[in-house]
Amino acid sequence: MRWAQLTLVEDDPGKFDPQFWLDFFKRTRSDAACLSAGGCVAYYPTRIPLHHRSQWLGDSDPFGELVAGCRKLGMVVIARTDPHATYDDVRNAHPDWIAVEANGNRRRHWASPEMWVTCALGPYNFEFMTEVKKEIMSRYKIDGIFINRWDGSGMCYCEHCLKNFQAATGHDLPRTSDPQHPARRAYILWRQERLFDLWQLWDREVRRIHPNSCVIPNTGGGATSALDMPKIGELAPTLIADRQARRGLTAPWANGKNGKEFRATMGRKPIVGIFSVGLEEPYRWKDSVQSEAEIRIWVADGTANGLRPWFTKFSGVLHDPRWLRVVEDIYRRHARWEKYLRNEFPLARVALLYSQQTAWFYGGDRAGAKVEDPAHGWYQALIEARIPFEMVHDRLIDAAHISSFKTLILPNIAALSDTQCDQLRAFVKNGGSLIATYETSLYDEWGVKRKDFGLADLFGVNFKGRVEGPMHNAYLRLEHVAARGHPLLKDLEDAPRIIHGVWRLEVEAGSSIEFPKPPITLIPSYPDLPMEKVYPRVSETTIPQVFLRELTSGRDALAPAKGGHEAQNDFSAGRTIYFPWDIDRTFWEVQCVDHFKLLRNAVDWATNEIPPVTVTGPGVLDVTVWRQKDSLTVHLVNLTNPMMMKGPMRELIPAGPQKVRLRLPAGMRAGKIRLLAANQTPSVRLAGDSLTLTVQSILDHEIIAVDLQPKG
Ligand SMILES: [Zn+2]
Repeated sequence: MRWAQLTLVEDDPGKFDPQFWLDFFKRTRSDAACLSAGGCVAYYPTRIPLHHRSQWLGDSDPFGELVAGCRKLGMVVIARTDPHATYDDVRNAHPDWIAVEANGNRRRHWASPEMWVTCALGPYNFEFMTEVKKEIMSRYKIDGIFINRWDGSGMCYCEHCLKNFQAATGHDLPRTSDPQHPARRAYILWRQERLFDLWQLWDREVRRIHPNSCVIPNTGGGATSALDMPKIGELAPTLIADRQARRGLTAPWANGKNGKEFRATMGRKPIVGIFSVGLEEPYRWKDSVQSEAEIRIWVADGTANGLRPWFTKFSGVLHDPRWLRVVEDIYRRHARWEKYLRNEFPLARVALLYSQQTAWFYGGDRAGAKVEDPAHGWYQALIEARIPFEMVHDRLIDAAHISSFKTLILPNIAALSDTQCDQLRAFVKNGGSLIATYETSLYDEWGVKRKDFGLADLFGVNFKGRVEGPMHNAYLRLEHVAARGHPLLKDLEDAPRIIHGVWRLEVEAGSSIEFPKPPITLIPSYPDLPMEKVYPRVSETTIPQVFLRELTSGRDALAPAKGGHEAQNDFSAGRTIYFPWDIDRTFWEVQCVDHFKLLRNAVDWATNEIPPVTVTGPGVLDVTVWRQKDSLTVHLVNLTNPMMMKGPMRELIPAGPQKVRLRLPAGMRAGKIRLLAANQTPSVRLAGDSLTLTVQSILDHEIIAVDLQPKG
């Protein structure tokens, strides 16, 4: 539940105080430890030739000493290895173990130039590091081996990679990053095969020595991660998310996003989130210490999203102790809350799809902008709207994986196979709702463009072949007269027009489909300079910029709503919303509140039911809702902060009061109800199957814990 990582540096042996760390592990109630063992530097008396012992090791065994100490504390212990760099003696004995650059030169280490970068896909890993792992496991019988930087440091053109790739695929190693190039496409898949083979080899070998152990690769992530997440989900008994802190414009919910992405393929297996106590910037101040507020919020958001915390510290000698008390506070609180952190499943009804194949084959070099930014836009909007949601992997969208959701959101999920499109059709046919944007399904699973959307029938819309953008000075007309009181226009009643996005597709409604009057239509782009010329050439069109359908028995299209929400209707018809423009990507770039309202309203209309929890009050909160065996929890993580979108937080700013309305699971009644952080019993009003209460103030993280008992 609480992990401690101590990564020793080479001159630690004899200098650092192991007992200090063991005491700290105990004080923090850490129940698992990751300790440096070998690879770049061995911290135990290794007998493997060329396995570099710390120059300060002498006849000591700091790894063994720490393992023994942790065992005495009853902790789970895993060893850390890192194979990504080595020394001249290795290079001289086995020049073919070293990574080779595109120009044919063996690759020096970028940060430690006396070292060499190793090839991850050749004998250095497959043979030498296998021996290292076997030795560590035989000597110490630890619970697992964590493999850091095991998957290479970019392209390698060594003789093994050339030969093995050629033999497996018939191609020469690619020298382009274009994912539509046949060699690059083959490489994306071949590299994964090699790494999965390597992982399984290591795992097999250590289990042969100690059957209850395993190898845990430092891998995985969201759409842009390079290894197939469903396969990782099959192989890994647990997984560690290595997203240590924010940097640049990373949002504070990014740690929770990792948790959601991991759970999409790991299911209920335990997942862990590494956090750094230092700054995490490109300049790599590895011995630095972050502000307390920053650490607390990062960990809180991970915890609220199912990640178990893992602090990581490099160097056994402390250069700056300021983080110790912060981590101790966080961990001791975590230990007190533990009963309510053993989650069984989330209760969210909305899910955001992510697609590695879209990132690999459609996004390529630009996956950040084309694939992640639309997802970030939705993520930010769902956070602001306080809608609990999950993430779903696009290759796990069979009924078993997604039937607990009412609404699936496809943020420009461009690359979808025919089979995936069929699965999405089945989801809607069974009462699920779908929201899609921009080029969703316009490409097949290999990123090859289709003539029309794979989901054209579901959207009720056909692609007309033209993309417009980047648009300047284009707008959307809100059709308050033609689509009076439409739920999509909620809180925009006073706005005659709002800004458009940046890119749009020309589409037309399917010939057999009659859409009602659209709530938003196009005001085409017009000159933005000279100022005298800035007037709309066309101020009104009938070109819809959103297509809403209600696919209920015999009825294709939604009649304009009679005003307000129809949330009380409980029929299970699927609804679809298609935006033929980049509303989500633009929202991430520009963050216009009008776009936020459209996104939020779209989810409300599509979902069309009373949400599991609503939280009303000031500020920005990440709201998640979970079931444990005998309880239910609502996490409220307070992201309200002037530094929310850039820069380390200086202080925590309380947000409250928050009015919470919570729906109890069918057949259950509430027992004891506690606010875990405030350590209070709130006054609760019960009405039918829901309860309401007020959380007066949230500093960083509050959990509403509701014990459940069967009714009757
Ligand atoms: Zn290689």
